Amino acid sequence: MIAEAKAVSKLNLYLKVTARRPDRYHDLETLFLPLGYPADRITIDFDAAPGIRLSSSLAGLPENLENLAGRAALAYADAAGISPTWSIHIEKQIPVAAGMGGGSADAGTVLSLLSAHYGRVAHDDLAALALTLGADVPYFLSPRAATATGVGDRIAPIEGILTVPLLLVVNPHFPVSAKWAYTNLDRSRIGEDSEQRLPRLIAALRAGDAESVARLLHNDLAFALYEKFPMLRQLREFMNANGALNSQITGSGPTMFAICRTQEERTRLAARLRETFSSETITVFEEIPTGILEISR
Ligand code: ATP
Repeated sequence: MIAEAKAVSKLNLYLKVTARRPDRYHDLETLFLPLGYPADRITIDFDAAPGIRLSSSLAGLPENLENLAGRAALAYADAAGISPTWSIHIEKQIPVAAGMGGGSADAGTVLSLLSAHYGRVAHDDLAALALTLGADVPYFLSPRAATATGVGDRIAPIEGILTVPLLLVVNPHFPVSAKWAYTNLDRSRIGEDSEQRLPRLIAALRAGDAESVARLLHNDLAFALYEKFPMLRQLREFMNANGALNSQITGSGPTMFAICRTQEERTRLAARLRETFSSETITVFEEIPTGILEISR
């Protein structure tokens, strides 16, 4: 039997580092938004040769158990007491080491597919297992608009109807490791948000108020990234001068997103970006499905 599923990417519309933990990880307060594009496609053949074989469409992506999705499969097999005969393929579209959660999305989707097929691991145990693979993996077990605290693993879906503004995503073609971004975080910024932007941002999403959403975007990791990579500063200035209501870096970067008022403005901004920056240096993802996102109770 073969099963397949889409592994969606994510944006962080808000990311505050609230504390540095004794284990050197950081406590966060963040708002995750799932994106149906860019997204990966995961296929699992359950009746392959004994073992776990993982391949991908992207040359250079780690294969087999070096890939986070392969490690997820092995962890599931161990937890469920299964001798695997699985061949897993990743059709890669999410930019790698880009702050869009690509590896975590693949790993979470593999766990969801295996769990749907075998159902041997209880939901809470699956979330705990996901966390052993990475802080963002639990989120991708059921990616929805959500806030997260802890290391990003304590997830609370945002209730009600959200109207997500028009988004454009730009991926500059250089990787940034999350480790670099956290190591270079300006320590003086660590702490609670005195401006209470997160609840205001959620209210703006509920109200469909794109201007306020744009104004409330925040990422504590962005300051060091703008400092180190002038291209990110340049992209932000360019997008904000060419029709974006605002733009920001997602997660540990370098991918950026812009909020636009209308489809026409988004189309124009995408065209200007492509005219100004070569296709060797950036990829523009324009047709991001947004609008009314979800109703969860
Ligand atoms: P995050 O937003 O969670 O910080 P990211 O987008 O910065 O994630 P990933 O794309 O997940 O980072 O990749 C980080 C590293 O993990 C890469 O250097 C890559 O080689 C490795 N990796 C292992 N498995 C995968 C996978 N399935 N997809 C992408 N990268 C993977």
